[in-house]
Amino acid sequence: MTSRRDFIKKSAFASAFVVTGLPKFGKSAQLPSTSGTTKPIVISTWKHGIPANDAAWKILSSGGRALDAVEQGVMVPEADPNNTSVGLGGNPDRDGHVTLDASIMDEKGNAGSVAFLEHILHPISVARMVMEKTPHVMLVGEGAYQFAIDNGFKRSDQGMTPEVKANWEKWKAENKYNPKIDKNNHDTIGMVALDNAGDVSGACTTSGLGMKMHGRVGDSPIIGAGMFADNDVGAACATGVGEAVIKICGSHLIVELMRNGKTPQQACEEAVKRIAKKVSNYKDIQVGFLALNKAGDVGAYSIVKGFNYAVACNGQNRLFDSDYLVKE
Ligand code: ASP
Repeated sequence: MTSRRDFIKKSAFASAFVVTGLPKFGKSAQLPSTSGTTKPIVISTWKHGIPANDAAWKILSSGGRALDAVEQGVMVPEADPNNTSVGLGGNPDRDGHVTLDASIMDEKGNAGSVAFLEHILHPISVARMVMEKTPHVMLVGEGAYQFAIDNGFKRSDQGMTPEVKANWEKWKAENKYNPKIDKNNHDTIGMVALDNAGDVSGACTTSGLGMKMHGRVGDSPIIGAGMFADNDVGAACATGVGEAVIKICGSHLIVELMRNGKTPQQACEEAVKRIAKKVSNYKDIQVGFLALNKAGDVGAYSIVKGFNYAVACNGQNRLFDSDYLVKE
C-alpha cells in the first residue's frame, strides 16, 4: 500500500498541487491513503476532472454506486460545448467530423463501449446501455448511432464552435491533411471510483486525438486499453496518445500489476516504462495513467511533464500534478 509520504512525494503534492475550491463537501484535508481504506473516492484525468469529480461525489457521498458516479461524472465534460477534447465540442477529425469514443465497466466485470459515434451528446450513456441492454461489449459508427436513436437518445446537430472550426481550418492549411500525433492534441476524461460498498467502476470518454484520420479509434473505448476495472483489485484509466496505450493494453496491464502486488503508483510507473521500451518515439508523445486500488490508494504517472489529475475524497476535490518519466 502506498504510504502517505510516498503518495505525497510521488504526486508532487508538497510543491505542486492546486486547490481549486470545492469546500462544498466536508472539511477534512486527509489524502488517500494512510492505512485502512479511503472510501468513497473518485479520481479523474486533467483539470476537467474537478467538475466531473464534483458530480460523481454527489452520488458517492450519498452512498451511491461507483458505476452511477463515473457515468454522471464524465457526463459533465461531455456536455460542455467548450471542451475541445471530450464530447461534441471536441476537435474534429481531419475531414471535419467529430467522432466520439467511450467505455464503461461496472463492479461485476460487465463492460460496454462505443466508438466512432457521431451526433450523440452522451456517448458514455450509450456505452452503458450497450453494457446493460445488449449481449455485446462494443458498437461502432452508424450501428452505435442507430442503437442510440432506437433507445431514446436524441440526435444533436451541434456543429463545431467557431474556435474549433478556425483551429481545424488552420490545421488543414498548415499540415496539408497529414494526420499528426503530438504531445498537445489530447485530453480525454478517464475516471475511476470506489464507492462506500467497496465496489470499483470506471468510465472513459473522448473525442479522440484532434485531426485524426477519419475512422481512427483510440484507446478510450477499448476495454483494457483506455480503462479497466476489476472489483478484486481496482481500476485504471489512460489519456494521451491512444496508439501507445493500445499497444501495451495499458489499463489492463496496470490492474494486473496491482493484482500481483504493485501499488497503484508502481503499476502506473511500470506501464509508462513499458511504453518507453516498446514505442520508439515515446519522448515525442504524452500518455498519462491513473490507478486506484481497493484500499483507495491512488497512482498517477505520465511520459512527459504536464499531466494532471483530480482526486475527490475525504471531503476535498483537488488537482495534482503527476510525476513523469522523461526529466531531461
Ligand atoms: N487517448 C485519446 C485517444 O487516443 C486521446 C486523449 O487522451 O485525448 O483517442
